[in-house]
Amino acid sequence: IIELGTPQRSVITTCAYCGVGCSFKAELNGDELVRMVPYKHGKANRGHSCVKGRFAYGYANHKDRILNPMIRDKITDPWREVSWDEALNFTAKRMRGLQEKYGQKSIGVITSSRCTNEETYLVQKLTRQVFGNNNTDTCARVCHSPTGYGLGQAFGTSAGTQDFDSVEETDVVIVIGANPTDAHPVFASRLKKRLRQGAKLIVIDPRRIDLVKSAHIGAAHHLPLRPGTNVVVVTALAHVIVTEGLMDEAYIRERCDWDEFQDYASFVSNERHSPEATALLTGVDPEELRAAARLFATGGNGSIYYGLGVTEHSQGSTTVMGIANLAMLTGNIGRKGVGVNPLRGQNNVQGSCDMGSFPHELPGYRHVKLPEVRKIFEDAWGTVIDPEPGLRIPNMLDAAVDGTFKGLYCQGEDILQSDPDTKHVAAGLAAMECVIVHDLFLNETANYAHVFLPGSTFLEKDGTFTNAERRINRVRRVMAPKNGYADWEVTQLLANAMGGGWTYTHPSQIMDEIASVTPSFAGVNYAMLEEKGSVQWPCNEEHPEGTPLMHVDGFMRGKGRFIVTEYIATDEKTGPRFPLLLTTGRILSQYNVGAQTRRTENSIWHDQDLLEIHPHDAEVRGVNEGDFVKLASRSGETALRAKITDRVSPGVVYTTFHHPDTQANVITTDYTDWATNCPEYKVTAVQVSASNGP
Ligand code: SF4
Repeated sequence: IIELGTPQRSVITTCAYCGVGCSFKAELNGDELVRMVPYKHGKANRGHSCVKGRFAYGYANHKDRILNPMIRDKITDPWREVSWDEALNFTAKRMRGLQEKYGQKSIGVITSSRCTNEETYLVQKLTRQVFGNNNTDTCARVCHSPTGYGLGQAFGTSAGTQDFDSVEETDVVIVIGANPTDAHPVFASRLKKRLRQGAKLIVIDPRRIDLVKSAHIGAAHHLPLRPGTNVVVVTALAHVIVTEGLMDEAYIRERCDWDEFQDYASFVSNERHSPEATALLTGVDPEELRAAARLFATGGNGSIYYGLGVTEHSQGSTTVMGIANLAMLTGNIGRKGVGVNPLRGQNNVQGSCDMGSFPHELPGYRHVKLPEVRKIFEDAWGTVIDPEPGLRIPNMLDAAVDGTFKGLYCQGEDILQSDPDTKHVAAGLAAMECVIVHDLFLNETANYAHVFLPGSTFLEKDGTFTNAERRINRVRRVMAPKNGYADWEVTQLLANAMGGGWTYTHPSQIMDEIASVTPSFAGVNYAMLEEKGSVQWPCNEEHPEGTPLMHVDGFMRGKGRFIVTEYIATDEKTGPRFPLLLTTGRILSQYNVGAQTRRTENSIWHDQDLLEIHPHDAEVRGVNEGDFVKLASRSGETALRAKITDRVSPGVVYTTFHHPDTQANVITTDYTDWATNCPEYKVTAVQVSASNGP
């Protein structure tokens, strides 16, 4: 037990890890942060937290942090520490020079879902107002961009429809492609409590996640599908509901487009979508699937929670639309206890999408092609906005390899580690003439950078994050930025070095500007957030208290839209050379590529990534528990230790991606979602063989 004494002061702020958005009291003695205490009035967490938010904040003081700007002419030169002025002038001159030489659209930005709403708003404004193009993208591209597309198509907006409190009134829960116990632990606790009270559970996942054990015996269905067949299973569930007449026809007639429903009903009714006809493809027991479909349709209030195991597929957007279909089919949208909920992986994925970080959308999910939308921002910013959507991350890298994209400002994102097909990412970065990395640490991407701008942690800035239930939470400055500037200030300095003329003195002014140009944020300001603690958007004249439940009196788009979800198999095939399918996920104590959590005491709980393999697959390969194995795909190979377990089915292997040594993205393919280019991280054909080590 460490005696920390009574803290001298405390600051209420928001966790910067997952999309639950827990509130914490950061307690300090002098300038030293001594502990993070879950805040009992936090509306998302009600006094609870997990080991990441509670203990993994030490990276803010880690010796690896870079605190001074650095530049170099060529990536083979050594770094040179310089003043902020010199770094910004060097950067501005290079970026403007590239535009003069290669054209206005030869540069762009990638922003991070770890940054605040105010920061991501400024980054997309920098692109559109100062760079003069729409080449802005976000790391949400590689996680929840299919949610943006799919829910937007079905309901008219891209957001979870329920608040977390609503889980207390749910009766049947589908969890598909998500592992809340590890990735969204505080929400998982609330869900488990509801399961203990008797709610029923349907888990659709290649792996038997821990949640299955939380339901009463007999109250959980686990459908262990073959990776890549989400669309087939979701359509088969709908097949049972429609062909057995279990749908909520009154709801559909009142709330949804009836003609589109009829087309959809005729599609799913076809015998080729039955559980029996699809069992060979999916590996799911037809009787279990039928039972799950009947339960969801007749078991009372139904909620669906999903994660990256849905979106990170070549048909990620199709599955999201299939999930929306299932919810509408059973009348499960628009009241407490029911809904569709993307569990956002990062703290501010919702916010970075809301703030116009995608290359085709201005803040508030409004297409850049629409003149009336552009006019709002042109009037506010005193500029002309390009009507042509910009480049997505993979398009930027392709264009770099082709020689037409030359400069990148990469804020808070290590694309060399986190994006698929590492070799291609490296080739794209190497072909650029100005790569600016704005981050806490000299990450892998910085190996290809010409400018390094030190970043600030969430403890060093004011702003807001928006969690997975659309809750806008305040982030409050706990300590002064060790690097001199909060990230929003660095973006402003860069904008001004390039002629932007920005004059923000506090993030509250940025939020005021966001509210003035974004109808769903029109009622949001810092004074109101101080008073209420937090608020869920839409928050405006129509909804002055915010909106815990969406689509209550009708869908945002008017009538809910049923969309036919035809299955198209991924091009990633197993075969004699690569007979197994690899899928990936997270572990409780670590976070994404581990840049933060590995630099904290959380490392004691997880010092390496392991490969889960079924006992049968291990035996035929002569692999024993703890052995080093070679994991090879068509893209590359790596080595890691084996963990033999029947949590995965025969033919499926699983690993986490928290350690750079694992290099999981050397293995993954370059296949992407058809609508959004979200990478297909969750399906890779691999071979596993005995190895002597890395
Ligand atoms: Fe809460 Fe997520 Fe942070 Fe854990 S990581 S404390 S669940 S916000």
